[in-house]
Amino acid sequence: MAAEKSVNEKQNMAHQRADELKDAIADYKEALKIMPFGFNRWSQILENQKRIKNYFNASDEDWENWRWQLKNRITTTGVLKELLPLDKKEIEDIDTTGSKYRWAVSPYYLSLIDPDDPEDPVKKQCIPSINEYSDEGGYDDPMGEEFTSPTSAVTRRYADRLIIKVTNQCAMYCRHCQRRREIGENDLATPHEQLEEAIEYVRNNEEVRDVLLTGGDGFMLDNQTIAWLLDELDKIPHLEIKRFGSRTLVTMPQRIDNELCRIFSEHLPLYINTHYNHPLEITPRAQEACFKLARTGVGLGNQAVLLNGVNNDPFVMRKMNQELLKIMVRPYYIFHAKAVRGTSHFRTKVEEGIEIMENLRGYTSGLAIPTFVVNAPFGLGKTPMLPEYLVSSGKDYIKIRTWQNKVVRYDN
Ligand SMILES: *Cc1c(COP(=O)(O)O)cnc(C)c1O
Repeated sequence: MAAEKSVNEKQNMAHQRADELKDAIADYKEALKIMPFGFNRWSQILENQKRIKNYFNASDEDWENWRWQLKNRITTTGVLKELLPLDKKEIEDIDTTGSKYRWAVSPYYLSLIDPDDPEDPVKKQCIPSINEYSDEGGYDDPMGEEFTSPTSAVTRRYADRLIIKVTNQCAMYCRHCQRRREIGENDLATPHEQLEEAIEYVRNNEEVRDVLLTGGDGFMLDNQTIAWLLDELDKIPHLEIKRFGSRTLVTMPQRIDNELCRIFSEHLPLYINTHYNHPLEITPRAQEACFKLARTGVGLGNQAVLLNGVNNDPFVMRKMNQELLKIMVRPYYIFHAKAVRGTSHFRTKVEEGIEIMENLRGYTSGLAIPTFVVNAPFGLGKTPMLPEYLVSSGKDYIKIRTWQNKVVRYDN
């Protein structure tokens, strides 16, 4: 048996281990030196905003008004080419795809684009690509939502929770949208009678304890309608929690006004899931909106989508999930991109997602680690995809693989 180690020896071993640990993230620290993200890009983004405000002849007050942001969404190449450098081919391609799939970008979200980067990850999410137009594969409704809708506006795929689609409108139309079939040409709030039917459905189904208000984007409704919906839902005794899905925290953080925050603070427990896909989207302005919401007491989560050319990179995903925690948003899901027609250029192999998960666990805070999920076809539900940590098992032991790939025996 080894002799008892002295305090000094133990501390030396700890120092050696700490040095090894530094090595484990040396490559990540190197990658960070050149990785753009919202906080280190902010001064350039402010320059972009100045240019865009000038073009629209807008005041700072206009810019901070979400109605102004919505009204001045960029929807034509005529305006876009004044704000971003585009060559003739790009303009033609945007117009071609635009004839098939609608597009709209809020001035705020446009300001996050680096005009000098043709591969800009923000641009890829909001400006139409010719790949959308030529993509004939995939499905309009890969999850078969039409078959899981017991009453219009409701999607029910699980026993204890369901979705109510409250509008088809969004502040920005994501190029990877999974519900582009419903975006159509016009912005439509779900008719009031349909919302009442949906609430009635929840009231009549006692096992539903969780309702998710989505769309489109739940925050496109006006404050009054949101307050009415939450009031009605709070009257249902068996309903335990409400949730919203909204990308406005990413694309139009100006939406989070004082009145909306007051309404939320009166309707706890309430959870909001947003949709950041890249660290460039996590800006000081986004932080302001998220902090404001966090102070109302709502829980904030993030649902990212794994997108080829945007975030299918372990270091980009690690950075994004760390940045999310800095703005009080807890990473919740990373979705594998579904086979939606017009979006196949964004799809990755499932293995890329598993590799991203492999590069999170152990390398960063457990809080920064979401669950990677595949949506089973036909609405059969979200299904987690995990790296394998259980290597083998015997009668009274298992073999486990650690985050650093050490295989060790564990008594069971
Ligand atoms: C995603 C989803 C939910 C919520 O699932 P969670 O795993 O609880 O976040 C509920 N209903 C439907 C139809 C969904 O697609």
